[in-house]
Amino acid sequence: MESCRGVRTAVIVGAGVAGLTAATALARGGWQVEIVEIGPPEATAGWGLCLTGPSLRALDGLGLADTCLAEGYGMSTITHVDVGGEPAGEVRPPRLLGARRPAMVGIARPVLHRILRTEAERSGVVVRHGVTVAAVDQEGELVRMRLSDGVVRRVALVVGADGIRSSTRRLLGLGASLDFHGQMVWRALVPRPPWATGIHQFAGKTDTAGLVPLSAGQAYVFLTENGAERSVLPDADLAPRLRRLLEPFPGQVEEIRSLVSASAWVVRRPVRTALLEGAWNRGSGVVIGDAAHAPAPQMASGAALAIEDGLVLAQELERYESVGAGLQAFVRRRAQRCRALVETSVAIIGLEQARRHHEAYPLVDSCHRLMAEPA
Ligand SMILES: Cc1cc2nc3c(=O)[nH]c(=O)nc-3n(C[C@H](O)[C@H](O)[C@H](O)COP(=O)(O)OP(=O)(O)OC[C@H]3O[C@@H](n4cnc5c(N)ncnc54)[C@H](O)[C@@H]3O)c2cc1C
Repeated sequence: MESCRGVRTAVIVGAGVAGLTAATALARGGWQVEIVEIGPPEATAGWGLCLTGPSLRALDGLGLADTCLAEGYGMSTITHVDVGGEPAGEVRPPRLLGARRPAMVGIARPVLHRILRTEAERSGVVVRHGVTVAAVDQEGELVRMRLSDGVVRRVALVVGADGIRSSTRRLLGLGASLDFHGQMVWRALVPRPPWATGIHQFAGKTDTAGLVPLSAGQAYVFLTENGAERSVLPDADLAPRLRRLLEPFPGQVEEIRSLVSASAWVVRRPVRTALLEGAWNRGSGVVIGDAAHAPAPQMASGAALAIEDGLVLAQELERYESVGAGLQAFVRRRAQRCRALVETSVAIIGLEQARRHHEAYPLVDSCHRLMAEPA
């Protein structure tokens, strides 16, 4: 793949949410795009995601919001329940696709990835699995990339979309802070109870729990465990341990706890955040998505930022003759918004750990309103 006058070539590292959406947006703008993905095909873990209004708006920009709404579960309310099991308020996030479409969608990760990947390949993107990037060197206007399978590419653009522990970020020499916040998050796939038509979030004496519908038949339970060790538990311990953590919650959580017994899918992950300290780009290489700014899951907006990054990157590169100028414009447009979201998610962690849940609700609300501003 050689870049020459008139042919714009890009290698994207990582076929996650950011990489696939950037690939589609660039390919539709006339770029020849190859994605190198370290993992095997169909490796996406089976829990779900809540895609908020900004995610849906960005997906709509690619013509994919209605597919996600059809394959997921549209919702428009977040119900907060206090430690006593009493309702503590309802948040109605702005409906960014208009009054006739829901504000958010819950969707299984493998379903979202299938939708994004199908569209990328339809747009001409080539995805290669089991491959990563070994070296990146700027050579004039092009970047020389050595890949792990020995292939060498000279391309006009390199995009690191390889997640929170990005190798591309390191190879480009970009410095990020990566923090663990003393919380572990749990997810379990369960049958959807009929009353779960929106997101429910339950404040506990120590932890926070909730439920997000994913389809007519499925939902996922989440629990944020405070003061947790960053450890890996045997798979067989996960469901019993999650059930124990749900025991102190009253009311509807009792029903949810019984559903976890039947769940074959329980995952536990550390709550980590990442934020680039300085530039997001060096020469014609740039990082996007979690590689540049990974918020904690509390705002359910990491995927929104990742999808927006893909769209805005393609838009800004379209506006400028040189890749370097386009990348600088992209970072100018994105940096403040992404920093605000990561910092708010960290502030919410602090309030949860101090059990000041009531102060977290307005913060979540105002941050959703900020994110409703154009990307
Ligand atoms: C438990 C949990 C729950 C979450 N819930 C939500 C939610 O409800 N809503 C929401 O919007 N966000 C949520 N998020 C955040 C969201 O998942 C991320 O922000 C989003 O996935 C970022 O997308 P990405 O493409 O940047 O990174 P990733 O999704 O991490 O994708 C990176 C891709 O790069 C590949 N890769 C990694 N290293 C290499 C390499 N060296 N070479 C090649 N390929 C590589 C990986 O295999 C992967 O395919 C949650 C996060 C967690 C941890």
